Amino acid sequence: MNTKYIFVTGGVVSSLGKGIISASIGKLLQARGYKVTIQKFDPYINIDPGTLNPYEHGECYVTVDGMETDLDLGHYERFTGIHTTRNNSITTGRIYKTVIDRERHGDYLGKTIQVVPHITDEIKRRMLRQEVRGEEQEVRDMSAAGNSHTSHLTPHTSEFDFVITEVGGTIGDIESAPFMEAIRQLRWQLGRDAVCVHLTYVPYLKAAEELKTKPTQHSVKELQGMGIQPDILVLRTERHLDDALRMKVASFCNVDLECVVQSEDMPSIYEVPVSMQRQGLDAAIMRKIGIPVGETPAMKSWHDFLDKQRRATREIHIGLVGKYDLQDAYKSIRESLNLAGIYNDVKVKLHFINSEDITSDNVEEKLKGMAGAVICPGFGQRGIEGKITAVEYTRTHDIPTFGICLGMQMMVIEFARHVLGYTDAHSMEMDTTTQHNVIDLMEEQKTVTEMGGTMRLGAYECELVSGSRTWQAYDKKLLIKERHRHRYEFNNQYQEEFEQHGMHCVGINPASHLVEIVEIPELRWFIGTQFHPEYASTVLHPHPLFMDFIKAAL
Ligand code: GLN
Repeated sequence: MNTKYIFVTGGVVSSLGKGIISASIGKLLQARGYKVTIQKFDPYINIDPGTLNPYEHGECYVTVDGMETDLDLGHYERFTGIHTTRNNSITTGRIYKTVIDRERHGDYLGKTIQVVPHITDEIKRRMLRQEVRGEEQEVRDMSAAGNSHTSHLTPHTSEFDFVITEVGGTIGDIESAPFMEAIRQLRWQLGRDAVCVHLTYVPYLKAAEELKTKPTQHSVKELQGMGIQPDILVLRTERHLDDALRMKVASFCNVDLECVVQSEDMPSIYEVPVSMQRQGLDAAIMRKIGIPVGETPAMKSWHDFLDKQRRATREIHIGLVGKYDLQDAYKSIRESLNLAGIYNDVKVKLHFINSEDITSDNVEEKLKGMAGAVICPGFGQRGIEGKITAVEYTRTHDIPTFGICLGMQMMVIEFARHVLGYTDAHSMEMDTTTQHNVIDLMEEQKTVTEMGGTMRLGAYECELVSGSRTWQAYDKKLLIKERHRHRYEFNNQYQEEFEQHGMHCVGINPASHLVEIVEIPELRWFIGTQFHPEYASTVLHPHPLFMDFIKAAL
């Protein structure tokens, strides 16, 4: 079968849940036995979201191959269990960089470089997922094709049955125009092998007691103005839409009635694929493409998970100690905790505790009622002392504590200060003059001057110490692989001293000997990881460390 392409765009407003719909389509097609990948195209100029403040963009999700990406990739992975790569997250910045590098390289000699066709061709090439082997390689690979100005790039057919492409932003944004033009060209070129799904909003006006379809009509008109006729409309709504309303939308927007589906508010995002399947979204896509629909897959394990979720009503309270008071900033950690809760038959109630507000006077009050605490990742000075105070409290009161990346570093610093007695112990990130740099800049980072994409990123191996709590949590595996995103690391000079006083280094990178995991075996559950286990939790496979943490908190 030729690779089929599904484009997902959004209109009216942002935050409609395009990522969830894309992930759901991926899930449903995967359940039918197809090989699927989902990619996100973001119209901003940054090369990647790695340098963005979480307040701007929420969490930065890291792929196994070390790309810093949009948090929607986290949804894709959690829904489908498929690893994404650097090819699954593209920005305007990356597109332009490739084209500009190629121009400097001399590949277009004599030609004027323009948005159409050069930028749009590069977008199309990425949408079609033509061989991409690392940014520099890309430039060379494309030198031949670069001169051709072709609009007929051949799809790369072997790897996937379906490539789902979500375009960030909202229809009508100036910066998304080249992406829309690329979709228009590809649709024309690919014919029935391409399908456009457009997500819009149907607001309910309380005063009029009416659901309004006009914004959807306008949004579709805007899309049509760019030469794109959507095949399928997903209407985001807070109220159920009846058939008459769907019929109205269908007729005004030139879309079949069976291709107008609704995305109502759900108690959980994981109900969305099932709701989409019930309404025949995957079947509609297949009919549009012209492949036989066949039987509806049962998705038994997914339904088993949802049943478990519905039954998990007993609550457990977990404190999330961090500095970004924004839901999306710790998206994967939140989802990992929720999932681990469900598999432990409890509903995790997360309480965000702003580390900037924590003092030794109020820490008891702040952590009151928490069955466990997660000390969150982060960068920079702000909120650091509050995190250390929180760790001191949970360590001395034996409250299960999970430190992730910066959180692990704070566990180490707290231990150095209050157990080893080095009152000035710190990380070189916060204090370059400390005599006790228990967290130090990694050797390989010392020559780094550029900020973007230069951290220790992606999956690295880690050897576990047998007999440790962590090793037990990982089902007694001796070698694991987890994803990283950091510049600083445990200072190995202190390892022996820490071990002697009760904090053990139980996960070590076999190549670099960097300490990746610390734990205090004497306590109920006190584990810090330099890596980010949260990126690896999926709906059907909750992460073993989160599972074990919740178990201990219970
Ligand atoms: N700022 C720390 C470092 O660079 C931790 C990073 C993180 O928490 N992701 O090492």
